[in-house]
Amino acid sequence: MKVLKFGSSAVASAQRIKDVASLIANAKGKGNIIVLSAMSGTTDMLIEIADYLYKKNPDGAKELTNSQERKYLNLAKELFNEKKTEEVTVELKNFFDEIRNLSKDIFTLFEEKKIVAQGELIISYLFSEYLNEKGINAKSISALNFMRIDKNEEPDTKFIKENIAKEIEAAGNADFYITQGFICKNAYNEIDNFRKGGSDYSASLIGAAVQAEEIQIWSDMAGIYNNDYKIVKEAKPIEKLSFDEAAELSYFGNGNKILHPTCILPAKLANIPVRLMNIIQPETCGTLISTDFTPNKIEAIAAKEGISAIKIKSGRMLLAHGFLRRISEIFETYKTPIDMITTSEVGLSVTIDDNKYLDDIVNNLKKFGTVTVHKDMTIICVVGDLPDENIGFQAKIVDALKNIPVRMISYGGSFHNISFLIHTADKADALKALHKALF
Ligand code: ASP
Ligand code: MG
Repeated sequence: MKVLKFGSSAVASAQRIKDVASLIANAKGKGNIIVLSAMSGTTDMLIEIADYLYKKNPDGAKELTNSQERKYLNLAKELFNEKKTEEVTVELKNFFDEIRNLSKDIFTLFEEKKIVAQGELIISYLFSEYLNEKGINAKSISALNFMRIDKNEEPDTKFIKENIAKEIEAAGNADFYITQGFICKNAYNEIDNFRKGGSDYSASLIGAAVQAEEIQIWSDMAGIYNNDYKIVKEAKPIEKLSFDEAAELSYFGNGNKILHPTCILPAKLANIPVRLMNIIQPETCGTLISTDFTPNKIEAIAAKEGISAIKIKSGRMLLAHGFLRRISEIFETYKTPIDMITTSEVGLSVTIDDNKYLDDIVNNLKKFGTVTVHKDMTIICVVGDLPDENIGFQAKIVDALKNIPVRMISYGGSFHNISFLIHTADKADALKALHKALF
C-alpha cells in the first residue's frame, strides 16, 4: 500500500484533477491512500474570509464566500456532465452554507478552523465523485475520524493508527481511499489543522500509521533542487537524499517549498521512503528520500533570506558558566527560535528569522553585554554527507566564497550541513560561486 499526496498545484484546475485521476487509474496496486490538500489559493481565501469575520464585516466575508462558491460551481461544470453537475451543485451549496452559517454570531478560533477545513473537504468530495464517475472504485475516509492531535498539539499516533484501520475496514474493499490532508481533530474533539502547508505532514503520519511501502508527494515541481533554480540556471533536481539531509534542506526550500519540513520525521521514524513526484512528468522519478544516501557527496546548496544576526559581546562570558542559558531564556520568553549560533570565549552570535520581538530581545540582551544587530542577512548552507572524516569540503566551500564577506560560519551541529551567514545583497553571487565550485 502506498500513500499518494496531491497538493494545491497538483489539483489547481479541472485539467489537473483529470490528469491526476488518469494517472492514479493507471497505478498498480490496490488500496492506495490518496491524501488531498485544498486547490491552490483556497486555504488563503478561507483564512481571509475568517479575517473579515474577526473584523466584524460579514458582508466582506459573504462576498468572498460567494465568489469561491462560483469558482467551484464552474469547476464542477468542467468535471461532470449536466445531470451529475446538478447533484454536485447541491452538495457544494451545503459546504458553502456551512461557511455562511458560521458567519452569524460570535467568531472565534473554533469557527475559523471549521471554515479553513472546508478547502480540503470540498476537494476530496469532488475528487471522489469524479473517480466514481470514471468507474474507479474509490472510497472516501474522513481525516476528521482518525487524524488527531493531543493537548500538546502533537499527533496522537496510537489513535491515528487504530482509527485509520477502522475507517478503511468500514469503507470496505476499494482501489483507492481518498482522504484530506492538513485537517484533524484536537484533544477537545474540535476541528483543527496542521498549519499552512501541513498536508505533507498528514501524508507522512498516514504513511507511518499504515506502514506504507512508500509516501509520494506530488506537485508541479520535479523534486528538490540542488540549488535555488530561480537564481542558478544549472540547478537540477536531486536524485536521492537521506532523511537527515532532507530535513536540513526542507527548511530552506530552494525556491520551491515542495516539502514541508515537518513531513520528514514521521517517515524517518517509521523508515518509509518519501518520493517527490512531478505531475507534469509523472514517468520521471523525482527526489527519493530514504535511508539510502551517497557517502561523502555534497548534494545541495540552499539559502534563506530575511535573517537577522544578533551579536552579544561580554567580558563576563570569559570562564563563566550559565551565560548561554541566560541568553537563550530571553529568546524563550519571546518565543523566538534561534537558527544558527556561533561562539567565542568573549561573545556569541545568533540568528533569527522572525523579527517580531527583535527590539524587546535586544533590550533584554543589553543586560548581559554589548549588542549589535545586522538585518537583511541570508543563511547559505551546503548539505550532504559531511562527516569530519570527509576532509577538504570546508576548504572548497570557503575558497568558493573568497570574494564574499562572511559574517558567521557554523559546522558540527550536524554532519549534514555547513552554514554561512552573508549579506542578502551577496546571495546570488554566493549561490553561483558555490555551484561552480561544488558541482
Ligand atoms: N491547504 C493547506 C494550505 O494551503 C495545507 C497544504 O496545502 O498543505 O496550507
Ligand atoms: Mg504544500
